Amino acid sequence: MKLATAVLKSWVMLPFVGVALAGRAEEEPRVVNPGPPPADAIVLFDGTDLSQWRKKSGGKAAWELKDGVATVNGTGDIVTQQPFGDCQLHIEWATPAEVKGEGQGRGNSGVIFQGRYELQVLDSYQNKTYFNGQAGAVYSQYPPLVNVSRKPGEWQSYDVIFHAPRFDENGKLSKAGTITVLHNGVLVQDNVEIKGPTGQQPTKYEPHPLKQPLELQDHGNPIRFRNIWIREL
Ligand code: MG
Repeated sequence: MKLATAVLKSWVMLPFVGVALAGRAEEEPRVVNPGPPPADAIVLFDGTDLSQWRKKSGGKAAWELKDGVATVNGTGDIVTQQPFGDCQLHIEWATPAEVKGEGQGRGNSGVIFQGRYELQVLDSYQNKTYFNGQAGAVYSQYPPLVNVSRKPGEWQSYDVIFHAPRFDENGKLSKAGTITVLHNGVLVQDNVEIKGPTGQQPTKYEPHPLKQPLELQDHGNPIRFRNIWIREL
């Protein structure tokens, strides 16, 4: 009886084993220490210096550096030395604990992919503004799915999967850029298609090289940043 059961079981299982074998991947996934930061990430800022960055307008990045934190100080946007295309980004930020201003004037900064596509940074804790301009928005295009903003002064995070737009040899858009964003670990952008450079109405893609520097915005508010790392995809 036991033998019969075993034989029956193996007959039942056979098709599934076959499917599993047929679908087996050729290459074993690389072993990567998850960190954080993951072993295969490029650390863009670990609190020690801004050597991975420069001022967008030229020269050394001059944001205030203190206690492992970089703070926007009115010296302008900064961009990475290295250009990036498709990537996974982790970045932590905090708006000022002392609340000043309102709407777009409160805790405004931004993570600008390829110098064109802005993921908005804003103090959106009990601060009304237009929906596609609040924290977690693809600026002027997509509001976040939910508002998971922490209180002013508290550290927040963005984890982003960005796929750069593609252009054909004539400079025509062949594939729109896409972005997925977790704000404080919660999904706020679900693989949305970027419509073109943000902040332009109407917006229109202009061709550019696949890899472009990542930019952080100086919008005149002292936003703090820490723990920035990126993985090329
Ligand atoms: Mg902004």
